[in-house]
Amino acid sequence: MKARRALIIGGSLGGLFAANLLRMIGWEVDVYERVADDLAARGAGIATHDEMFDTLRRLGVVIDDTIGIKVSDRVFYDSNGKVIATLKVNRYMSSWVRFYRPLKDLLPEKNYHFGMNFTRFEETPEGVTAHFSDGTRASGDLLIGADGIWSAVRAQWLPEVKPEYAGYIAWRGMVEERDFPPKLRGEIVPIHTFCLPEGQYMLTYPVPGQDDDTRAGYRRTNFVWYHPVLPEKLTELCTDASGKCHGVAIPPHLIRKAFIDEMRAFSRAHFAPQIADVVDLTQQPFFQAIFDCASPHIAQGRVALLGDAAFVGRPHAGMGTTKAALDAQYLIDALIAANGELAPALVDYNESRCLFGNRLVARNRWLGAHMSAHLSKPKSQRTPDELAHRPPDVTMREFGAKLCDIADLAPIARRQQ
Ligand SMILES: Cc1cc2nc3c(=O)[nH]c(=O)nc-3n(C[C@H](O)[C@H](O)[C@H](O)COP(=O)(O)OP(=O)(O)OC[C@H]3O[C@@H](n4cnc5c(N)ncnc54)[C@H](O)[C@@H]3O)c2cc1C
Repeated sequence: MKARRALIIGGSLGGLFAANLLRMIGWEVDVYERVADDLAARGAGIATHDEMFDTLRRLGVVIDDTIGIKVSDRVFYDSNGKVIATLKVNRYMSSWVRFYRPLKDLLPEKNYHFGMNFTRFEETPEGVTAHFSDGTRASGDLLIGADGIWSAVRAQWLPEVKPEYAGYIAWRGMVEERDFPPKLRGEIVPIHTFCLPEGQYMLTYPVPGQDDDTRAGYRRTNFVWYHPVLPEKLTELCTDASGKCHGVAIPPHLIRKAFIDEMRAFSRAHFAPQIADVVDLTQQPFFQAIFDCASPHIAQGRVALLGDAAFVGRPHAGMGTTKAALDAQYLIDALIAANGELAPALVDYNESRCLFGNRLVARNRWLGAHMSAHLSKPKSQRTPDELAHRPPDVTMREFGAKLCDIADLAPIARRQQ
């Protein structure tokens, strides 16, 4: 039987998981990525879940202690720098590139196409054709939209589905371990810290350093600070010194100095001094506006959406890359269960992954409700979730929960054989 061919739009983790898993079951695959250069320069730190490691193992990727920094302690600081709660955990914190590299290396170079900007698809009973902005096209049996939150595949298919602004941004940054003064290094670098003055949510955690180095002395501390910002202020933040507005995502080096100074001053006034020091030590802070998105369906005909193109939860569960891995794994397992028949496999995929995606979006809205309401609603009008005075130990457990411990997600994370 002739091998079938999948066209995968988007060459980040979701696209790479799908491509490699499909190859394992005999499909030909081609990945089309809009960005022209290798994506390895993307520097974000990420929380991980064991379920993503299982998918990587299935692909033959070795999971050992080099996969990230093993964190055993969570510490909750009050605004004066006093420890008010601690929690023992066992989690690996890592970086996006630590997973991108092995997944990319598994795929033959000839099947990964950089600089290919997908514009639209055409579907017939015989196949599906993707069109790119340079005028080229490619045809196959299945098109997978793994092109992220602003998915062009989804926009053609479901133009009414738009990502929804959560009402806050995430300031982020990284500090090299060697740049910490000795006392602060011990207090911060190996630890997953939390600090939550009203309406804010700040966490720091260690991630591998240059070339995925996990050794003490060579690690980095990553901070993620969720900070309420009204839509009009977001537009200002995304406007550079020349007056050009960059939509909802401005390149870090163009963020105006006045906003970075304002951000550092806010952090000094509201966070534990140790945490404000981390913000000050960060040379190039940047921010991402937080959106979420839910699609009414994610597979139809010869097209399927996966990862952030399908559903985006706000990032509080630290699960976006794990969800992308599990989407890809589910799709492949559904194809295996349907003896390779596309139509029943996509019905199965659509039903189950919509259930998972909707629950993930809802959980993360619940976790972030107090930040969404912080500037947009007077206290008297807020719901109990929006007022959210969770005790520190509960906060550390809920925000950093493992997927296997989340009662409404764990049983539907994977396809039951
Ligand atoms: C503040 C923040 C913190 C986060 N923390 C975590 C965490 O701790 N743990 C975790 O697991 N996840 C985390 N995430 C989420 C995670 O980054 C995403 O869920 C994950 O990257 C989704 O992967 P993806 O492959 O679906 O999409 P993306 O990584 O967005 O990739 C989409 C790809 O498609 C390409 N593309 C887009 N349009 C086109 C086009 N027209 N043609 C061709 N290619 C195109 C893009 O260039 C990109 O490479 C966080 C996100 C944010 C914002």
